[in-house]
Amino acid sequence: MFDTLSERLGSIFDKLTKRGALSESDVNEAMREVRRALIEADVALDVVRSFTDKVRSRAVGQEVIRSVTPGQMVVKIVNDQMVEMLGSDAETIDLNAAAPVPIMLVGLQGSGKTTTTAKIARRLTDREKRKVLIASLDTRRPAAQEQLKILGEQAGIDTLPIVAGQMPVDIGKRALSAARLGGYDVVMLDTAGRTHIDESLMAEMAEIRRTTNPHEILLVADALTGQDAVNVAKSFNDRVGITGIVLTRVDGDGRGGAALSMRAVTEKPIKLIGVGERLDALEEFDPKRIAGRILG
Ligand code: GDP
Repeated sequence: MFDTLSERLGSIFDKLTKRGALSESDVNEAMREVRRALIEADVALDVVRSFTDKVRSRAVGQEVIRSVTPGQMVVKIVNDQMVEMLGSDAETIDLNAAAPVPIMLVGLQGSGKTTTTAKIARRLTDREKRKVLIASLDTRRPAAQEQLKILGEQAGIDTLPIVAGQMPVDIGKRALSAARLGGYDVVMLDTAGRTHIDESLMAEMAEIRRTTNPHEILLVADALTGQDAVNVAKSFNDRVGITGIVLTRVDGDGRGGAALSMRAVTEKPIKLIGVGERLDALEEFDPKRIAGRILG
């Protein structure tokens, strides 16, 4: 991910830093090129516009043009602005609530929700030493509940026993009470998806939210779907309300636009990234490190 964007920006910055002096029109020209590179990387248009406007005004407004190394200063401004666009500080899952802390995962079918549920459960068990119960509220896809059970067994995480024919909201309530009775610290609720956003999905998510009152609602979105992932995030955020994002398939060969736009469009942090199919392929999303990776 980010390879093409990184190369494009690298060559724009090479040109800038090689010059001794920069005029305002040099900066404007460089910003036009940055703008084009971001659009081609699938970054949402509004985000691109606001990004380049901010960089341009800082670059022209500061003493950049008259400084000894103007190109390097522009590169630093771009870096700072990119870190800001990505959310500035790394944010982790918030467990600061009475146990069992309910965490709900939402997202389209195939985005990686079930896998991510098991990955996060594993992480909270290993790193935070929490006792985690996972439950699948997906009654749509025939084998969804069994899939989570198998993943739970692989990960050494307890899953809520399956009761055939139970509705999602009732499974949610049962998960909460089982977590309470079993002395769990965290209860994770994996939910159903659809191939596209639709009203019945949103209504189901809103109802689960109302009845289980999750402390975190994490949207799981596929980074490879680019702009589409951003639209999905906007819909879930507007309709259900999310507290954070987990971006999956960041190990894939995507252009990176979703990763770069999500925070700005939803104003919700990307908390974790999935970087492979294995249960340990989950990393913290650190804006400074990601910006460093893109800007070299
Ligand atoms: P769900 O329908 O949203 O529950 O999606 P699943 O959890 O079943 O995931 C669908 C497929 O994506 C599975 O084959 C996963 O192994 C795969 N997957 C999930 N996360 C990642 C990731 O971060 N990287 C890669 N390469 N594959 C992933």
